[in-house]
Amino acid sequence: QRANAPFRLAIIGSGPSGFYTAYRVQSKLPTARIDMYEALPVPFGLVRFGVAPDHPEVKFCINKFDEVARHPNFTYIGNTPIGSESLPFSALLPNYNAVLLSYGASKDKTLNLPGESTLSGIHSARAFVGWYNGLPEHRDLNPNLEGNDGKAVVIGQGNVALDVARILLTGVDELRKTDITEYALEALSKSKIKEVEVVGRRGPLQAAFTIKEVRELMTLPSVGFEPVPPSIIPQDTSALPRAKKRLMDTINKGTKSYPLEKNWKLSFFSSPTEFLSSSPNPDQLSHIRFEKTAPVEGTNGDKVVGTGEYKDVYASLAFRSIGYKSEPISGMIEAGIPFDEKKGVVCNTLGRVAKPTPEGDIQVPGMYTTGWVRRGPTGIIASTMMDAFDAGDNIVNDWLGGVEFLGKEGDVRMGWEAVKREHSRIGLKAVHWSDWDKIDKAEKERGMKIGKEREKFGTEEDMMAVV
Ligand code: FAD
Repeated sequence: QRANAPFRLAIIGSGPSGFYTAYRVQSKLPTARIDMYEALPVPFGLVRFGVAPDHPEVKFCINKFDEVARHPNFTYIGNTPIGSESLPFSALLPNYNAVLLSYGASKDKTLNLPGESTLSGIHSARAFVGWYNGLPEHRDLNPNLEGNDGKAVVIGQGNVALDVARILLTGVDELRKTDITEYALEALSKSKIKEVEVVGRRGPLQAAFTIKEVRELMTLPSVGFEPVPPSIIPQDTSALPRAKKRLMDTINKGTKSYPLEKNWKLSFFSSPTEFLSSSPNPDQLSHIRFEKTAPVEGTNGDKVVGTGEYKDVYASLAFRSIGYKSEPISGMIEAGIPFDEKKGVVCNTLGRVAKPTPEGDIQVPGMYTTGWVRRGPTGIIASTMMDAFDAGDNIVNDWLGGVEFLGKEGDVRMGWEAVKREHSRIGLKAVHWSDWDKIDKAEKERGMKIGKEREKFGTEEDMMAVV
């Protein structure tokens, strides 16, 4: 009976998780009416604002998302953050059969160390990545790349940390060919950074980065790699699992020469304890204190403890790359959506939003979640896609299987048709796909004039001016 009833789904967030779920729902239930709400005028989440500009091939998924958005039963509603300051979460509930929470992780974790929030020269990797990729929130970050000590430290050893190191070390003529923002290019062209140290709390076998990103750094022209001491990294790698073996071999092989014009290094077993200043400007970071760590016996190196031995690393620029963080959307908790603050995820069982109780999880009707807000901020686009396909399957199977959804059985839900009245009452200007087409075209034209694929607009005002 439901197969012929109109099914209305609201998706919050236009990153890969939202788009891949929409794709799956469209393929299994083409009559479904899908409305996608996005906080920014422009779509694609971290594909646009996270993925490094020198990784254009990673962004090919955008072609699929574009197809999804052009489906006749799909409506994109950009420039519409869901939350009490703009369109309330509660405004969606009476107008949809189901809501998908796929709004990613828009905050970043902090170390909570002395000096971290008071000294200048300390940035989150998220802010730096957003800055070079044109995220309006970080348009004015202006990291001081001209500090005369020429050194930057990146705290954390995931792929985002290596993205930061690579962007700092790549020659601007290489970056000029990418869609990196012009203001970032200009700042990078004046950069005096000659050395980047990427520091981790644990050992080489625990580092989260992958071989592709390490190789890219090892093959950057005029960039040398300081060898990791043999006492720190396994020399005989024959017994290691294949991926780890290749990674360790690549690090051990290093670069053909060292030192070169610019250099980078990996430091292990070092946990930051304090950000300090001994520079003439007492507000400026000059060094970071690290406590040496040692693996805890019986944990395979996964856990480490401080040894009480400290070392200071001098650098006027530091990036904290310890992960992104999700938060509940304002009004969401009040609407009965459980959020695990510790893990930073919407509580769920296999993507179905569910309240944990001592008697077991209780599903919240009509509520689904996927992507980084479901699993936490790890995983590449391919894994996000698989997760989204599961979410799409669950939504369609539950709908066709007669599971309880939002509202009463047989209720007619009007989706965007109804929400838009509230939307315009609040005074929001919706950006639809045809408007995005205009922004996209204008950005490509701006890029063409300077020999780039695109020159992004750096502020929401500039984006909206095109619309
Ligand atoms: P997101 O992509 O973050 O999308 C969430 C969307 O929700 C955003 O558009 C956001 O604006 C929107 N939103 C947030 N709050 C609201 C609200 N209240 N109302 C409406 N909309 C809202 N993966 C790869 O495969 N290859 C790579 O090279 C790669 N590089 C990466 C580099 C960086 C720096 C980062 C951080 C990630 C990278 N990834 C890469 C991982 C990939 O980007 C993620 O797996 C993927 O983007 C997660 O998708 P998502 O939809 O869950 O979240």
